[in-house]
This record gives sequence, structure tokens and C-alpha cells, in this order.
Amino acid sequence: MRRHRNVKIVATLGPSSSDLATIRALFEAGADVFRLNMSHGDHAEQKARYDAIRAVEAEMGRPIAVLADLQGPKLRVGVFASGAHDLEEGDRFRFDLDPAPGDGRRVQLPHPEIFAALKVGSRLLVNDGKIRLRVEHCGPDFADCVVTAGDTISNRKGVNVPDTVLPLKALSDKDRADLEFACGLGVDWLALSFVQRPEDVTEARGLARGRAAILSKIEKPAAVECFAEILKVSDGIMVARGDLGVELPVHSVPPIQKRLVRACRQAAKPVIVATQMLESMIESPMPTRAEVSDVATAIYEGADAVMLSAESAAGRYPVEAVTTMDSVARSVESDPTYRIIIDGSRGTDNRTSVADSMAVAAREIAETTDIAAICAYTQSSTTVRLVARERPKVPIIAMSSEPHVLRRMALVWGAHCVGTPILERFKQAVLNAVNAAQEFDFADRTRKVIVIAGVPFNTAGSTNILRVASCDELLLSSTDPE
Ligand code: PGA
Ligand code: MN
Repeated sequence: MRRHRNVKIVATLGPSSSDLATIRALFEAGADVFRLNMSHGDHAEQKARYDAIRAVEAEMGRPIAVLADLQGPKLRVGVFASGAHDLEEGDRFRFDLDPAPGDGRRVQLPHPEIFAALKVGSRLLVNDGKIRLRVEHCGPDFADCVVTAGDTISNRKGVNVPDTVLPLKALSDKDRADLEFACGLGVDWLALSFVQRPEDVTEARGLARGRAAILSKIEKPAAVECFAEILKVSDGIMVARGDLGVELPVHSVPPIQKRLVRACRQAAKPVIVATQMLESMIESPMPTRAEVSDVATAIYEGADAVMLSAESAAGRYPVEAVTTMDSVARSVESDPTYRIIIDGSRGTDNRTSVADSMAVAAREIAETTDIAAICAYTQSSTTVRLVARERPKVPIIAMSSEPHVLRRMALVWGAHCVGTPILERFKQAVLNAVNAAQEFDFADRTRKVIVIAGVPFNTAGSTNILRVASCDELLLSSTDPE
């Protein structure tokens, strides 16, 4: 089983997609990575989904990445005596620490850190920005605001404070419990919501203790400002356009998306473009033209992955949504203009090491001679990510003896992940590579592949060997020097 595209598809699981048959159907339709959203559902539900994913993985014989998305410091108001109130432009409204049920004039906001950070003029956004307020007076336990855009405010609605770096713990007690639970399950990636500073990422990394790779969700203006530092300490990035488009003007999201996707590619770290990609497919079997164009744009930009949220988690057409993404990806990637754009945005920065140059060379050799695939051996994912950064025309076969590395690489552009035993000799690596290329239909016996690796195999280090091997070399001469 192989995909006929390079960009990866992340599908969020939820009520519409929790049974084994649906998860299998999502995988078969094209989902490479499954997201467990820790904001919803309890641990028993998440474990059942996790187990179903691993059952599909075993059945299909293909590594699948599981990404656990931690809720992060999501701020919420308390409750109202009557459940909800309408706020209109010009109304005065108070947030305070009093747990008494709210009314049309006030409600609890149980986060003293917010009051400490607010200033006169700061903006508060409620319910995905549908309600907007501006602070007129504030103290350590209250903020009196004027409503600048009205709507209905109701129990436990989310609050965004875009102008302010909040001295909030990056990980709430719930996040810590969820992180431990998710690592215990064996998830491959942890996504951190509302990252504000690089220290937030290093804190989570300390708690994960190598059990999962760390992906930072960029959804706060503060994170956009210090993105370079956050990228350095992260293993991957999500352009989390939902909250980003609330915290910043919605028209500023596309330029940020373009900039982040380019920076991630230069850093050879996977980047997911997320949220509202096929939003109308929550209710409809047919996406809008604008949505299809949005998915296509992310692929033309060179994103590693595109993501489905409610479309696959809670929509009526989860499998059709994955099929749509798969079709859009195949259409874009077979467009000659896609190649021009991807080649034109390759860049040459950050190519300083032997490993970097080997990846560049592998692509150049593959594209100037008739090569069927680049088979990259890796123990840490680095070699594969460096090859993926070059976005070669020929497929990438990512070979590793480390099951958790194979799973993590399911998120990386183009990586078709294949397990190998622990190898001692390069000759064996060449044999396994040509076998994998044939088994998964990348090559027949008349073709050649490139094999790159770091030798000796058992010391994690950089790539230092590149071999062009023909697929009928199954019986390599026993006098082969390697
Ligand atoms: P969420 O994150 O779905 O967890 O809110 C993605 C986003 O904000 O876009
Ligand atoms: Mn979000």
C-alpha cells in the first residue's frame, strides 16, 4: 500500500469517527496522521480511539502517527444564572473573580492572571471573537469593559486576550495529566496549544522525556512574534488558523501561513496547515470552491500536511472530507506549475553540513538521471527530513529500524515509511532498499534507486554515504567492498 501524493493528511477523531470501521475507512481514504483532541472526551474515549488506530496500523502494515493535541491555557468565563445573555454594542460589562452566577452586567472570569495583565484599552474577545470588548477600568480582581461588538454570551464560553502576553502556565494541571496519559498510551506527537514563548515548548519537552515529538501550535500573536525561537525548540509546527484568526485580524492569517510554512521547510521541520479547510463538509458532501482552493494553496506553498478538524471529528462526511483532500493533493501535485513553485521556493540557506549536501545531491542525481526513488536510512528522522526539505520529484522511502521514528515521520512530506531490522552492513541496507522500492510499487527490476545512510549504522550521526543501486542487484557480489 502506498499513497500517490506527497503532502500528508491529518484527520481529527471525534464522535463521527471513533469506531474501528470508520478509522479504517479514513486511513484507506488517505489519512496518514490521526489527531486526538484532548479538549473533548475523556481518557477512556481517547484510549479506545488510540487502540483502534493501532489495530488499523497492524492490519494495514503501515506506520501511522497519532498526535495528541493538548488544550493548553484556554480561558473561559463562568456560568450565568439564566444560561445566557445578549450583549449589544455600547453595553457595559464586568468580568470578575466572583463565582456567583452572572447576569447581563457581569460574569466570573476565573483567571486572576488575566486581571493582573490587562490594561485600559486591552481587548477581550469572547466566543471565537463574536463578542468584542474593550477594557475601560481594571483592577486585580475585575475589568470593566465596553462592548464593541455584541452577541449572546453564555456559560463557559472561551475568551481570547490578543494584546497581552499572559503570565499563564503553558500547561494547566489538566494538560499535565493529559500529557502523561497520552505519553503512556504511546502517541507519537504532542501538540501544544496557545504557545506564547520558547520556554513553553521546553517545559513540555521536559515532561515528555523523549516519549513524543513536540509540535507547537501557532495561534497567539506573541508566538508569531517570537516564531523563530519557537521553531528552534520545536519538532514541528501547526498553523492553527482558528484561534490565530480570532487573536489577529483574519486577513493577517494568509501572510503568516505563507511565512511559517516557508520557515519550517528551511528548518526541515514538518508543518501542518489547520482549521476550516473544508468547513462546509461538516454538513455537505460537496466542498465549496473556495475551500478546495484553500487546501490547494497550502499544498502549493509546500506544507507537509493539511488537517481536518470538525470535518472528520464531528461532521456528517468524515471519509468524503479525506477523499476530497486526497484528490486535491493529487491534482495539485501533478500540475506542472506546482513543480515550478516548489522548486522555486527551495532555497539554499541552512545547507552547511555533509548531511545537508547529501540530501541536495540525492535530489539532483535523482532528477538528472532516471531514478525511481530515494531510499533514506535514518535513526532519528534527520536524514529523511533533510531529503524531504528538497521536495524531490521522485518518491522518498524512509527506512528505519526505530518503530517510533517511522510513526513520527508519517507527518513528513513525501515520506513513505518502511521498517527494517537493525543493520550492520551497507550492502544489507541496499538490498532492503531495493526490495522495499519493489514491494511498494515504486520501482520494477529495470529501475535504479538512490540509497543514502550514515555508516556505521548503530552510531547516530550524519549521512555520509550515497549509492545508486539498480533493483536487479538483488544478488550483490559477495566481493562488494561494503
Ligand atoms: P484547535 O486548534 O482546533 O484546538 O482550536 C486549531 C486552531 O485553533 O486552528
Ligand atoms: Mn486553537
